[in-house]
Amino acid sequence: MRLVAKESALDTAREQLQRAVELLELSENDWQTLSTPRRILEVAVPLRRDNGDVEMYKGFRVQYSTTRGPSKGGVRFHPSIDMEETVALAMLMTWKCALTNLPFGGAKGGIAVDAKDLSERENERLTRRYTSEILPIIGPERDIPAPDVGTDERNMAWMMDTYSVNAGYSVPGVVTGKPIVLGGSLGRTSATGDGVVISTIEALKALGIDPKGATVAVQGFGKVGYWTAIGLENLGLKVVAVSDVDGGVTGFQSVAALWKYFSENRSLNMPGTDKLTQEELLHLNVDVLIPAALSDAITEKSAPGIRAKIVVEGANAPTTPGGDQILASNKVLVVPDILANSGGVIVSYFEWVQDKQNYFWSAEEVKSNLNDIMMRAIKEVKALSAAKKVSWREAAHMIGVGRVAEAHKLRGLYP
Ligand code: NAD
Repeated sequence: MRLVAKESALDTAREQLQRAVELLELSENDWQTLSTPRRILEVAVPLRRDNGDVEMYKGFRVQYSTTRGPSKGGVRFHPSIDMEETVALAMLMTWKCALTNLPFGGAKGGIAVDAKDLSERENERLTRRYTSEILPIIGPERDIPAPDVGTDERNMAWMMDTYSVNAGYSVPGVVTGKPIVLGGSLGRTSATGDGVVISTIEALKALGIDPKGATVAVQGFGKVGYWTAIGLENLGLKVVAVSDVDGGVTGFQSVAALWKYFSENRSLNMPGTDKLTQEELLHLNVDVLIPAALSDAITEKSAPGIRAKIVVEGANAPTTPGGDQILASNKVLVVPDILANSGGVIVSYFEWVQDKQNYFWSAEEVKSNLNDIMMRAIKEVKALSAAKKVSWREAAHMIGVGRVAEAHKLRGLYP
């Protein structure tokens, strides 16, 4: 495999695509088609701060592919987001939707801003202005945003309202991850974590480890990290450490107790717990390590110290190709991002379907359908991995990339 000097999220994504193209024995023409994002939009997003000052932010939306349906992907508010990373994340969304067989292409968007620096009203103004700047290219049949790092259901409500005001009628299907009363789906809030939980259990079973009492460390305690940690704890696994941007913690009695403290104090440093650095958390002697924060957590530098038997990628692109090679040579089973964290987009798909039909499902129906789709995808990945003697990541990419390549061929080229 080709190694690149500097491993950005885009390098990682292109590396993984190239490997899938090689394994599928696709042509140079296929590579050109698959490695090119279809539409890239950069916008200026002016924000009037509460004190009257005006600041300019950069906003992005990338529609990587619309071959299998409207493009679909989250909106990230984070100071380090740029166009390169947005392209990488939109590419991963494309393979993820194809792997889970959802009728979507892939997209991603965001604003280079720290949401923590914004008041509620500033966040609303920024979200609405961003929505209005990307409005011509989004819509329930074109491109459907959702929450990602730094955004949540409030942002989706403002996006849905801005789009609807411009359309002249309510268009709930323009975004997913909305509040339930606006046409959101039951089960969407926890969906990504629920999918990570399903993936973790299946990976443990694949290695013959009893999930009851298996130990877990989770990097990131946001929407994905929290729902993963609490879901695993509820199934009898032992979550021994979690971290957020400010560092890690261990020695808490339960995830539920830690979450209560965190919600009230916005800090993980609950009395009676011990602090950990990010590196110490990654290197804990646990059965399962779950990176659920940002990209590039597991690199050539951090991978050699990883002692977990299984890495389940809750985050998108948390492992660089160099890190991946080291995990592979240490026989660590990696459940790749496009499989492990696909629960979010699967339930987003359910939300879009419910909005289209104006008919809403029970929580049990959502959970059971999520389980069916995840289990089917996991089964397909495991089977291909065994048949072709490739890693779970390579198998997942072969399935996702292969379906997009086939759809390209069948649709043909216009004109
Ligand atoms: P979030 O904003 O809710 O949470 C992010 C968490 O990561 C926070 O706890 C933050 O403190 C922590 N964090 C940030 N920088 C960190 C660092 N350097 N070290 C450790 N922790 C750090 O975001 P989220 O929605 O939970 O997304 C997390 C990851 O999961 C992202 O990679 C995202 O793309 C991916 N993902 C999210 C969804 C979804 O539905 N939200 C779906 C699929 C994948």
